[in-house]
Amino acid sequence: MELKTLIRDVPDFPKKGIIFKDICPLLQNHTAFSQAVDQFARRFEGSGVDVIVGIESRGFIFGAALAYKMGAAFVPVRKVGKLPSEVIQESYALEYGNGTVEMHRDAIVSGQRVLLVDDLLATGGTMSAAVNLVKRLGGHVVGAAFLVELTFLDGRKALPGQDVVSLIQY
Ligand code: AMP
Repeated sequence: MELKTLIRDVPDFPKKGIIFKDICPLLQNHTAFSQAVDQFARRFEGSGVDVIVGIESRGFIFGAALAYKMGAAFVPVRKVGKLPSEVIQESYALEYGNGTVEMHRDAIVSGQRVLLVDDLLATGGTMSAAVNLVKRLGGHVVGAAFLVELTFLDGRKALPGQDVVSLIQY
C-alpha cells in the first residue's frame, strides 16, 4: 500500500501559509496504520530498544503502538506544564518565539537504549529538544523515527549523528 496517498494536505492550517500534513486518513485505514508501525519495527529490529519516546501529541499514536510491537517501554515528551511529577525541560526556537518540551526526570534510566518517534520532521527543533532530554538522563539514542519528513526544510541538520528514519518524504 502507498502510504503517501493517505496523507491529506490541508492548506492554511493552523495558520495562513502552512500546508498541514494530516495523518488522520492513514490512521483511519487499519492496514496502512499497522503497515507503518511494522515498517518502523522492522527498521529498528535488533537494535536492542528499551524505551520508545513519543512526542506530543501525534508521536504518542505511533510511539505507543511501536512500544507494544517491540516489547519496549513508552515514555511521553510533553508540552510544558502537562506532566504531573518532577520534570526536566528543553526549549527550542519556533518561527515566532520558543517552544518548551518536558520529560519526567525518572522516565529513563542511564544506559537505556531509546528510540524517539514523532509524526513529522519539519525543522527538527522539536526532535532535537527531545533528544537532548534523553541524553541529559543518560539515555543512548538509537534513532529518531518519523512517519513524514519535509525534506526541503532540512530537519536532519538539527539531528547530527542520529539515525533518522522517515517512511514518507516530501
Ligand atoms: P519541527 O520542530 O519544526 O520539526 O516541527 C515538528 C512538529 O511540528 C511535529 O510534532 C509535527 O507534528 C508538527 N508540524 C510541523 N509542521 C507540520 C506540518 N506541515 N504538518 C503537520 N504537522 C507539522
